[in-house]
Amino acid sequence: MNILVTGGAGFIGSHLAEYLLEQGYHVLVLDNLSTGRVENITHLLHHAHFEYYEGSLFDADLLEDLVDRAEIIFHLAAAVGVRLIIEDPVWTLETNVRGTEVLLRLAEKDRKRVIISSTSEVYGKSSKRQFSEADDLVLGPTVKSRWGYAASKILDEFLGMAYYRQRGVPVIIFRFFNIVGPRQTGQYGMVLPRFVQQALTGAPITVYGDGQQTRTFTHVRDAVEAMVALAFHPQAAGEIFNIGGTKEISILDLARRVKTLLQSPSPIVFVPYEEAYEEGFEDMRRRAPDLRKIQAWIGFQPKYDLDNIILDVARDLRQRLESEAKK
Ligand code: UDP
Repeated sequence: MNILVTGGAGFIGSHLAEYLLEQGYHVLVLDNLSTGRVENITHLLHHAHFEYYEGSLFDADLLEDLVDRAEIIFHLAAAVGVRLIIEDPVWTLETNVRGTEVLLRLAEKDRKRVIISSTSEVYGKSSKRQFSEADDLVLGPTVKSRWGYAASKILDEFLGMAYYRQRGVPVIIFRFFNIVGPRQTGQYGMVLPRFVQQALTGAPITVYGDGQQTRTFTHVRDAVEAMVALAFHPQAAGEIFNIGGTKEISILDLARRVKTLLQSPSPIVFVPYEEAYEEGFEDMRRRAPDLRKIQAWIGFQPKYDLDNIILDVARDLRQRLESEAKK
């Protein structure tokens, strides 16, 4: 069976492609390398069941051909993260909204199953202890760029639900809560790869704000296994699922854990939000998923705990730093 992964050279996409190959599927990857990297999939390029196409969702003929050949489409091509939208809001909004729209239009022809990746950012600044799929989404004003990322993903979700209800396209939506692991880059602001890199290189570990904001962290391997299980679930069309972790940790405690575990001499420093992002930046004080739905549907139980995640990220980063040093 052919499976298309848009954004397959990205962090989550490359792990998904790898897992699908292990499961015996034929994988088609489309990536324009805007935030993805070909090094993420170098080890897959010679696999007999792997095809890589460098191109964008806006290469109409290429995308149509790939959608026609695929039986299931995992749509992970997107401009990811709050940092990126602050730096380049026009490109981020257009990529996320128009990209999903063109894909859904093509999928409609043969009602191909489309898996849309969304984000816990859509819950915005809701003050609930845990966010569940049917909750209200609470965003800030449009003058603050950061909310544009959530808004673009919310529109993707609305489009997905509309194509499902009105046009019969089987769409499944995942909301990722801080998915981390090997190959993730800190370039776009993500906290764990940044802390691990800082710890390994002896640079200061930069905690934004007071560090009391909390998150859960989930290994990408646990996330992709759950995505694939639900993608093949006969009743999952039209459903939205949170994917995330069960244990909340403050960002300051995360910094301490990384430092201790990697025996790093790096100092932990505090950086004000306006320096790290933009004036008036609003961070989420807490963000934890309600996982009852995904647990009920597929018995979701992450295998990696936080220490194993940190060690895995560090192992990968050490290798990358060594190979860069040799160049
Ligand atoms: N963060 C931090 N230092 C960094 C990068 C991020 O303290 O070098 C904080 C960020 O402000 C947020 C948390 O870590 O409170 C998680 O950030 P990330 O961008 O990884 O994901 P988010 O939860 O914001 O989507």
